[in-house]
Amino acid sequence: MSAVQTIGVFGGGQLGRMMAQAALPLGLRCTFLEDASECPSSVLGQVYTRAQLAEFAQSADIFTLEFENTLLSDADQLLKTQTLYPPRPALATAQHRLLEKALFDQLQIPVAPYRRVDTESDLQAAVQQLGLPLVLKTATGGYDGKGQFVLRDAAQLADAWAALGQTAPLVAEAFVSFQREVSIIAVRGQDGTVKTYPLAENHHHQGILSHSIVPAPDCAALLPTAQDYITRLLNHLAYVGVLTLELFVTEHGLLANEMAPRVHNSGHWSIEGAVCSQFENHIRAVAGLPLGSTEIVRPSVLVNIIGQHPDSAAVLVLDGVHLHLYGKSERAGRKLGHITVMPNDSQQINSLLQQLAQILPEPLSLPR
Ligand code: AMP
Repeated sequence: MSAVQTIGVFGGGQLGRMMAQAALPLGLRCTFLEDASECPSSVLGQVYTRAQLAEFAQSADIFTLEFENTLLSDADQLLKTQTLYPPRPALATAQHRLLEKALFDQLQIPVAPYRRVDTESDLQAAVQQLGLPLVLKTATGGYDGKGQFVLRDAAQLADAWAALGQTAPLVAEAFVSFQREVSIIAVRGQDGTVKTYPLAENHHHQGILSHSIVPAPDCAALLPTAQDYITRLLNHLAYVGVLTLELFVTEHGLLANEMAPRVHNSGHWSIEGAVCSQFENHIRAVAGLPLGSTEIVRPSVLVNIIGQHPDSAAVLVLDGVHLHLYGKSERAGRKLGHITVMPNDSQQINSLLQQLAQILPEPLSLPR
């Protein structure tokens, strides 16, 4: 039996819930730090509020996170007595786009040309140097496309500054006319072993992930480069656990967009679609156990349930789909669950996706 019996998780959302679900068969339990009272993880373990940080720090043998904007001050408090995986520098870097870009530069992982912006005149200079369109992003706190302004015309400069200027420092990035967006998920164990999942091709609707196709079609030639980039990050950060790297596919190859120091929405297919899911591998890594195989069992499509719950029976009557609901109440733009579509062949996949598109309340932009 592992020396670790309980894993404390910063955050109590669906990612924590699926981590705890993966931990149970291994004889491991989770506790959570989360202020929202009825969080998705609460059915699977004790939840502590931030006011109870000291008790949370005593509640487990080792600690991890499911929420990348975990406060560094909370992590520091915990680190006085406990171990946190992924390590603090990985968390601090992923929380700050400028630190993240500097790390990508240092490790020679290509990114879109960018400039740091502290003032409106910096923004003017960035527009001159990078050209238009460009994407202005907050350095901290943005997610699901929030905290961003796409500047298409110099006349929008004052509006962009009015929208985001008070949250400077900002990052101005050249707009990438990408062919597709993909992500790679990898796990690194305490002994330095690295395993990577196949590339996922990600499709967004109103800034939120709508569906991911795995393996990303026609991307076999890009996989070694993506594996190389994420392995550089994992090794440099002496990382333990699951890391995700989001990438743009361009005509000149891959450009890194950002990393997430955690399990990722584009990897939820792995619960059924991989030999060992991203959640189980994350738990294994954090607990110091051997990693499982990241090989795929069958090509899959992950479809997010956003805003409104579908009729569960209408989904479950379809052969080849798996339904996961997170126990959340309905709200526009909220991720309420997901469906893993695991067809027997590529013809069945299109018919299943067409049927799901009828059932799911949010429009599903179907794969080409
Ligand atoms: P992010 O919060 O950086 O992941 O950005 C959210 C989404 O905005 C990405 O998934 C892209 O679709 C788009 N995006 C971000 N940065 C750029 C860029 N430099 N050029 C074009 N699109 C971008």
